[in-house]
Amino acid sequence: MRDMREGVCPVCAHQEILETTPAEFGDGDMERVAAVTYEPRWLLGGRNPGHPHGPLRRYVCRGCGYTQLFALDPMAIPIGEGYRTALLDGPSQRAGDGRRVKTTHAAIYLGQRAVEQVWPDGSVHSVVWADPFTCSLHRSPASPDPQGRRLIHVKLQQPRPDHLAIVAFSLWISTAASLDGLPQQAASLPVVLGADAEALLGALRAHAPGWTR
Ligand SMILES: [Zn+2]
Repeated sequence: MRDMREGVCPVCAHQEILETTPAEFGDGDMERVAAVTYEPRWLLGGRNPGHPHGPLRRYVCRGCGYTQLFALDPMAIPIGEGYRTALLDGPSQRAGDGRRVKTTHAAIYLGQRAVEQVWPDGSVHSVVWADPFTCSLHRSPASPDPQGRRLIHVKLQQPRPDHLAIVAFSLWISTAASLDGLPQQAASLPVVLGADAEALLGALRAHAPGWTR
């Protein structure tokens, strides 16, 4: 389906599209921004219409009236029960040609633009490769396995407008001198194996600051 934000109607091919900002009205007819969700209230319960996330824009064809609705900045819309938003688990394109990486207890999506992790509590953390982030590495105190592979804990942190995004996992990878020099730390993180571990390692080599191997 054609995106009407390009100025062409997908139904009748008319080339005049109205961009409008829809509103919602509550008690007292006070106008509020129509959005995907709103910040939860701490004391009263429910959500606060004064703090919207994902404000909506409506696109209307002036020829036939066909209408599309889009949310602004969809990656910044928070996910969780308090927001009444949930992430549906599909073949993820959100991280940019994303692949879902198999892990022990949290979904990780690896893409050309970002790596994204859905934690068991439902929160979603995204580290965008193009923006500054830190990468800290530790090695597990456990001995290397019979194939000489060691468990390496990886923690990526990136400040986002309203939270610190954290993506963390452990990789079984072949030991090398540089890994043997890492500080030791015990951690219980989602473990990534096989081809998925190789894919994550490749992304870290390409994007992580200070990655020298
Ligand atoms: Zn039309």
